[in-house]
Amino acid sequence: MQATGLPPQPLTRPKVGMISLGCAKNLVDAEIMLGSVLERGMEITSSAEDADVLVINTCAFIDSAKEESIDAILEAHQQRGLHKRANQRLIVSGCMSQRFSQELRQQLPEVDAFIGLDQVRELGTVVERVLQKHRTSNAENSDVLDFVTPRPTYIPDYDTPRFRLTPPHSAYLKIAEGCNHPCSFCVIPQMRGRHRSRTPESVLSEIRALVAEGVREINFISQDTTYYGMDLWTERAGPRQPVDSARGLTLASLLREVEKIDGEFWIRLLYTHPAHWSDELIATIAECRRVARYIDIPLQHIDESMLRRMRRETSRTHVETLIAKLRSGIPGIALRTTFIIGFPGETETEFETLLDFIERTRFERLGIFKYSREEGSRAAKMPGQIPAKLKNERHRRAMTLQQKIAHEIAAAKIGTELKLLVDQPLVARTEADAPEVDTRVLLSRPGPVGEFIIREIQGARGYDLLA
Ligand code: SF4
Repeated sequence: MQATGLPPQPLTRPKVGMISLGCAKNLVDAEIMLGSVLERGMEITSSAEDADVLVINTCAFIDSAKEESIDAILEAHQQRGLHKRANQRLIVSGCMSQRFSQELRQQLPEVDAFIGLDQVRELGTVVERVLQKHRTSNAENSDVLDFVTPRPTYIPDYDTPRFRLTPPHSAYLKIAEGCNHPCSFCVIPQMRGRHRSRTPESVLSEIRALVAEGVREINFISQDTTYYGMDLWTERAGPRQPVDSARGLTLASLLREVEKIDGEFWIRLLYTHPAHWSDELIATIAECRRVARYIDIPLQHIDESMLRRMRRETSRTHVETLIAKLRSGIPGIALRTTFIIGFPGETETEFETLLDFIERTRFERLGIFKYSREEGSRAAKMPGQIPAKLKNERHRRAMTLQQKIAHEIAAAKIGTELKLLVDQPLVARTEADAPEVDTRVLLSRPGPVGEFIIREIQGARGYDLLA
């Protein structure tokens, strides 16, 4: 872990601990919050017991994520009692705090303060306010401090202090934040606000700094990575309009600048949306060797009627044409996607259309989510909600099919030589494996952690490769 932008430390410093849940976007927010804590001269502790202030960075993606977040808050409160840490203060941040702080204030009076997504840069100051209030207040848990503001607009910059929580050789880089899409199952735009891109100068400066620190893999993240830059165009860019850098800043023009940076590293594109791909972007990735041969492109479904009801702003023809272009335009590309099964009204025929598509397309990496009814989304009010039993059965059928495909794809790698990034002495990843979500390569002899190596693939065990 590395810290940047640290000021001189005072003698007595409050200790701040953090439990961060959810996705990589939330993790970057956690890193920025910890950066602001260090900037205020406080200490970070990895032990919740030692913390004077414990921050729970919550997720509100689906119901199970919300439950996990609530459980983490209650558990932290319970531990205060068990370990006689009555003075420990609790702060709740993240997507659930952003969206539900009003309700949570009533339900969780044990929390000292709530902060939203626009306050990640200010955690250090919020910690000071919470400690100050505790020192001067007689009544335990009197008024909860609520710093959440609606409609977030914050986006980090290259010099935003950040305490990285990923291994030293791999980092996430948030190139944009927010989402302008109207997907009917999703409430993320209500939490994270409208799409806003960082400037290319800001992104490039951060890449140079990360590469200088020895980072070998930089994972671009946002809600919609392919929409990068388009919010800065003077003319509005709608879905299915031609997208190329003659009209303004795009992901393609950014990648061409990234390619000029010295050093050996991978750029990995996560969270691309099918609506904003262009021929120019495909050609640019093919030319840029720094961009990993890996695309994360959540498709959610393929049946035409389902795509319409999901308000995905793409058609089946568009998606099939795009996949054909990606496969032919970028030889060796590994495609990762996610699908939602059990969306309201999904018929057996529509589900089988999806199974048929999975079988024919043979995605290298695939995740299947069971539809979760999100309060405040359009789909939550739709008729034809699918019973859990049927969702489970469809999930099992889709995963069984993909397991067979994934094992065949893994077996086909045996005998090839691949470039690997070593995560642990005996564990590495190929270009086709994003950290945390994809498969691993198990090494028969140790490799140098944080460096690239070339090894022959000698076998496969389930999803994993042996080298
Ligand atoms: S693209 Fe759709 S699913 Fe993804 S964050 Fe935006 S609204 Fe949600």
